[in-house]
Amino acid sequence: MSSSPESRPPLPIVRLLPRKHRRFKSGHPWIYANEIEMTPELKHLPAGELVAVANSGGDLLGTALFNPRSLIVARGISNEPGQLFDRELISRRLEEALSLRERLFDTPYYRLVHAEADRLPGLIVDRYGDVIVCQANTAGVERVEGELLECLDELIGPRAVVMRNDSQVRALEGLEADVRLARGSVVGPVEVRENGSVFLTDITGGQKTGWFFDQRDNRSHMARLSRSARVLDLYSYLGGFGIQAAAAGADHVTLVDRSEQALSLAERSADLNGVSARCSFVRASAFEEMARLGKAGERFDVVIVDPPAFVRSRKDLAAGLRGYRKMVRLAAGLVRAKGFLFAASCSHHASPELFAEQVRHGLADAGRNGRILRRTGAGPDHPVHPFLPESAYLKAEVLQLD
Ligand code: SAH
Repeated sequence: MSSSPESRPPLPIVRLLPRKHRRFKSGHPWIYANEIEMTPELKHLPAGELVAVANSGGDLLGTALFNPRSLIVARGISNEPGQLFDRELISRRLEEALSLRERLFDTPYYRLVHAEADRLPGLIVDRYGDVIVCQANTAGVERVEGELLECLDELIGPRAVVMRNDSQVRALEGLEADVRLARGSVVGPVEVRENGSVFLTDITGGQKTGWFFDQRDNRSHMARLSRSARVLDLYSYLGGFGIQAAAAGADHVTLVDRSEQALSLAERSADLNGVSARCSFVRASAFEEMARLGKAGERFDVVIVDPPAFVRSRKDLAAGLRGYRKMVRLAAGLVRAKGFLFAASCSHHASPELFAEQVRHGLADAGRNGRILRRTGAGPDHPVHPFLPESAYLKAEVLQLD
């Protein structure tokens, strides 16, 4: 704790209902609205306020960030009663996150902070060398933006920091979209280095924060399988999979995306990596292009399908799952005998089991069989909180098909 407890007004207290204290006490970071005694005072607290958490008997269990507008009404900060969410704590947690990433990676391109798993609830920080992109997905971290920026200045000294506060989940916290430069300036595309290749990304207008760091290990795995191969990279975005496959020695890579901006950056990246002659870029809808290639009798040694989330909310589940099934059917049909298929889903709402089921159905629909080589997820810069296993959103399977 930083300042002396006597000099501060006491924190508002959130009392858990009888028997609802166990999860929080053991370190689960979330408290739901139906687990607390909601009082008029709490209802009127500003979103993101720090509160003390107590059991029904009044014993203090720690502190949390409170948001009366959210179903997840409080997000744990500490099991230390009285712990503030101040500059000192933020700085310590950022340092811990940085030292983990520095141990994991040789180059400074990674997800530096992955929300609850790094004990900064709802905060995403992606690092592109000396450019930082932050996303505040909770009112609690939005309120400490000033402290966060100061700590990043001290720890990393970035040339620019962009607040990419335009994720959908912000609405659940009552927050509006807000994209802005908080430090320095960024002119033109920003570089990302990954597995020995270099890419150009647009951190203010691109997907999410500009780059999907979560696929790093999967890209290098697929690149190894792509030597001398004919590769199809669907939903290629900036070419993370395809260009790394080309750099690893693929004979030819076809990258397909419906976004002109993504493809034009991917073309420039292919150039930077000296693989342009072995890459072609197709602007098309992936399903239509897969159907067309299938009809034309085109076959590939490696097919990669890494689409945007098909299940955006629980009510989309059935339709989204049908989408994955169809995607696998179309993609599997394009794989040569003894070739490889990589299929991924980043939908929070589709569990690994449900996704695996769609992969099975899709294979059967395509009349294909083979073997699963790997079931994977996101890389280690996207750690998972042990009590929030459902936050492991990325699922992927690598198969060899007969
Ligand atoms: N595989 C990428 C990430 C994919 S993100 C990587 O490794 O970084 C999803 C991409 O799918 C986006 O670039 C988006 O433009 C593209 N996309 C979305 N819907 C599409 C569709 N129907 N057909 C083709 N591309 C699509």
